[in-house]
Amino acid sequence: MAKPNKKGPTKTVDIFCKACNAPLFKYRKGGKGALVKCFKERISQDYTVSVGVCPKCEKVFARDTLVKGTPAYKIVGGKVWLK
Ligand SMILES: [Zn+2]
Repeated sequence: MAKPNKKGPTKTVDIFCKACNAPLFKYRKGGKGALVKCFKERISQDYTVSVGVCPKCEKVFARDTLVKGTPAYKIVGGKVWLK
């Protein structure tokens, strides 16, 4: 079995609210493609005040979940964009 990379992905993306463009997270994203979930341990900066809620427009953009036992956010489809 392959060992997980200790450092994880090194590329950081900024995640923004699609409704009001407020910054939500800085996230070390692995791989390519759409953002479906965020592992909390990979969030390098968290701008939110309430879990999964945009601090500016207060829209819910993610839900607390567990992915294989690891705390994560499941992103609500179409609520965020990244750069
Ligand atoms: Zn917002």
